[in-house]
Amino acid sequence: MEILEGTPLANKIKNEIKDFIKETKVKAKLSVILVGDDMASKIYVNTKTKALDYCNLEKDIHFLPKKTTEKELLNLVEELNTDNSVSAILVQLPLPDHIDTIKILSKIKEEKDADGFGITSMGKLSIGRSNIIPCTPKGILTLLEYYKIDTKSKNCVVIGRSTIVGRPISILLSQEPYNATVTSCHSKTTNLKDFTKNADIIITAVGQANLINSSMCKNDVVIIDVGMNRIKDDTKKKGYRLVGDVNFESFRDTDAKITPVPKGVGPLTIASLMQNTVLCELGRKVSEK
Ligand code: NAD
Repeated sequence: MEILEGTPLANKIKNEIKDFIKETKVKAKLSVILVGDDMASKIYVNTKTKALDYCNLEKDIHFLPKKTTEKELLNLVEELNTDNSVSAILVQLPLPDHIDTIKILSKIKEEKDADGFGITSMGKLSIGRSNIIPCTPKGILTLLEYYKIDTKSKNCVVIGRSTIVGRPISILLSQEPYNATVTSCHSKTTNLKDFTKNADIIITAVGQANLINSSMCKNDVVIIDVGMNRIKDDTKKKGYRLVGDVNFESFRDTDAKITPVPKGVGPLTIASLMQNTVLCELGRKVSEK
């Protein structure tokens, strides 16, 4: 088995951004909005903040109470849309149930849509005209390119169809220049193994530990494991450890290539967000000319 590490590549990307900012003196600022006090969301925002600091990108983080109304949130997004000092906007998901997520994400001006989740960004992605590619799919593509994994005409099975990972990566891989033959599997797929058995590449974004094991795959399969699952582990200080959707150990004696969890796709998602923040700022500069 070969491990496709994401961290070294993510560090390389962040260092390139840091150098670029230093050389060009471009000022790029990401505004992050977090509604509520979900612990996992706070950890994600903290990780993003650290990366922004590392890359010398500017930030302003808006912590809003859970009871924030949809109208108040729409107003804040509009304020940031028109604020010239803000290059890009990110609304941390999930939002509380009383808020219409799509409505909020689509309120973000396309040029400032750091996550690329708005209706216009997603529409453009589906016709191969993306300006901004959502961060996790972008990280996956960067990783495939870095490890020279050929996708052309390959059987690629994407497990999970969420609008933030599964759906966009399925669309992107089916397009130029990736040209894979993509099968989309999800919770209503019966007998997942029938599909994974013939896959050259599997992208799994489900959130279920041990969903995939070696008996379901070709000997030399490539697996991009996006899943993040907390498994109780009393030997760890936090009382848990992170694992992906893949039963890693079962692949030890195979020729598979697999991304680890942690240190696989996660760091590349963050690095992609840094890239998207700079791209939003540069795109704005071009349109101002
Ligand atoms: P989601 O809950 O929105 O989607 C999960 C998908 O899995 C759904 O489309 C569902 O149809 C599918 N599914 C559920 N059970 C299945 C089964 N038994 N067989 C096949 N498909 C099944 O989740 P999401 O937001 O797309 O995230 C998926 C996982 O990826 C989570 O563990 C999440 O934490 C992780 N994630 C990681 C990163 C990263 O940067 N590493 C980024 C985003 C999400």
